[in-house]
Amino acid sequence: MVGKPHIPLEDIRAQVADCTRCPLHEGRTNVVFGEGNPQARVLIVGEAPGKNEDLQGRPFVGAAGKYLDELLAIAGLERKDVFIANVLKCRPPGNRDPRPEEIQACTPFLREQTRTISPEYIVTLGNFSTKFILKTDTGITRLHGKPTKAGNFTVFPIFHPAAALYDRSKRVALEEDFATLGRLLGNEQPAAVD
Ligand code: SF4
Repeated sequence: MVGKPHIPLEDIRAQVADCTRCPLHEGRTNVVFGEGNPQARVLIVGEAPGKNEDLQGRPFVGAAGKYLDELLAIAGLERKDVFIANVLKCRPPGNRDPRPEEIQACTPFLREQTRTISPEYIVTLGNFSTKFILKTDTGITRLHGKPTKAGNFTVFPIFHPAAALYDRSKRVALEEDFATLGRLLGNEQPAAVD
């Protein structure tokens, strides 16, 4: 059976740019579609844009983005190697949690992005993306660092990098999990620093 054709990323981007499917469009400065390598082996899925992301229209900028860059380096990756997207494309006011109806309205875009990019690995950052992608109620604390096969993809949940900005104890787990990701990808590990 022939599957549904993949929609080019630029066509999905154009649909998202005008989207008014949920009330979050009213407060946004910019839609944050996502960015990176359209043929990436690794799709990274965060939660939703924050203040800086909304202002710049780019995912993971500011302190959490800088830390994500450091974590990617642990896995032997740079931003240009991966594609980074979020469950929601518009910022929830005050960075509140995404609501179920917003997730339902927005995630068809993420599904299409995933089909088009067709990554080997989906790295879910934090609870919301992990619960959505794995269709589970189990929290990130139990799931992080464990690869799980889901259809054509291997899903690899990791804490959200922003969590480590407020709770330094999460840094160890984050850095270990990104090192594991690098091994799964077959990337050389950087030499240990004494
Ligand atoms: Fe559309 Fe998603 Fe933005 Fe809601 S969050 S307006 S569904 S792009």
